[in-house]
Formats: sequence, C-alpha cells, structure tokens
Amino acid sequence: MKRTLKIKWWFPLAATVILAMLALLSVREKRAAWTGSETVQTPVLVIDAGHGGADGGAVAADGTQESDINLDIALRLRDLARFWGTEPVMTRQGSDISYPADAESIAQKKVADQHSRLELINATPGAVLLSIHQNKYPAAAPSGIQVFYGAEAGSEELAKLTQGNLTAQLCPNNRRVAAPADRGVYLMKNAACRAMLVECGFLSNPEELIKLKTDAYRLELAAVLLASYMQYTRGTVT
Ligand SMILES: [Zn+2]
Repeated sequence: MKRTLKIKWWFPLAATVILAMLALLSVREKRAAWTGSETVQTPVLVIDAGHGGADGGAVAADGTQESDINLDIALRLRDLARFWGTEPVMTRQGSDISYPADAESIAQKKVADQHSRLELINATPGAVLLSIHQNKYPAAAPSGIQVFYGAEAGSEELAKLTQGNLTAQLCPNNRRVAAPADRGVYLMKNAACRAMLVECGFLSNPEELIKLKTDAYRLELAAVLLASYMQYTRGTVT
C-alpha cells in the first residue's frame, strides 16, 4: 500500500489518543522496586516490521501482503515515537531489503535477513523489541489481536500490559491472551532483550482485513503500541 508524506495531519489525533491512554493507564501504573544492584540503562525502542523484501509474509485473498501492512504500522509507530521525543531503531524502513551476494534462494535471503536483524537488535543497548506481524488462518472466522513474548525477563510483563491495552482499546470482545512465542520464531528466541511480537489481526478474516487496510485503524494500533511502550518503560527499572 502507498504511504504518502501528507500523513502528518494525524499527529494531533494520535497525540490525543496517546495522552488519553496514558491518563487512563497511569492509574494502573506500577513502579518496579529499585534493588540498587541493577544497571540503569536507557530503554531503546526497536521496531521490527515483519517480513519484507523477497518475503511478503502472509497474503490475504485480495492480494494484500502482510509485509506492507507491517511496514505501514511500523512507520507510523516510528513517526509517533519521534513526535514524543524517542528515536527508535528500525530493522527495516522500506519495502526493499539488501541481501548478501551469496543469498540466492528466498530461503537463504530470509535467513540472511533474520540474522542481520538479530545482529542489529543485540547490538542495541537497552533494546526493547516490538515485532509487528499479521496473522492468517485457513478458516475465515478467527480474529483478534494477540501478543507473544520472548524469554528475557520483562518480556512477559510488557506483552501482558500491551495485550490488555490493545484488547481494551481496539477489540473489547477479543479473548486472546498474551502467550510465550513459539520456539521456532527466530527473533523471539534469540533476541537478548525484552521482546514481544504483536499479531495485529487476521488477514484471513474479512472484517479484520478491511480494518487493517484503513489508515485510521493502523494509526490506532501504532498509538496503542507506543502508549504501551511508554507505560512499560516509565514503570520499569531497566
Ligand atoms: Zn508474519
């Protein structure tokens, strides 16, 4: 999908959404105990737009590619983070990915890409990884947002907080709960930092696909994700 540079009109709207959320959520905010033995490290938001390049990810019945929706949400999240004074690290910022010369097949390209993303993530002190994906299922009925978390301490808390916010703000009937990421998810398994993967919706569900294709819904997703990150990092000793 095309993303124009005229999107800045939505900053005030997004800022309002985030402010309202933070005001609501601050009631529930809890501060982790300071033990005195931990190293204080400034958290750095790392945004991973899933797939890209030779890997389009899941494809909807109408040809919509997961990689494009992931990127659009990721770029909105990046712009919102900048607006709030946080410069995130991006694992990709465009549709194209440059691969090493010896990566010829799509499988080799995907492996090389995953390795370079992991290298970037693990070279970022204080990284808090937020990986953005879309779901797909053979049947049309399944829907809803689900957050998965990595093994590093703090990931589960971040994921549960984010799942709760996404459900409350965007899909109140959603019964999905935050869960450990499958061991086969390379970045979640190997990232040496707090990490979560958000499946923002099902491309196989017609109603959810329509929502995911709108600017407004992708903006709401980005706003709730940023608000959750801010809520988490303000309330946690890192
Ligand atoms: Zn995916």
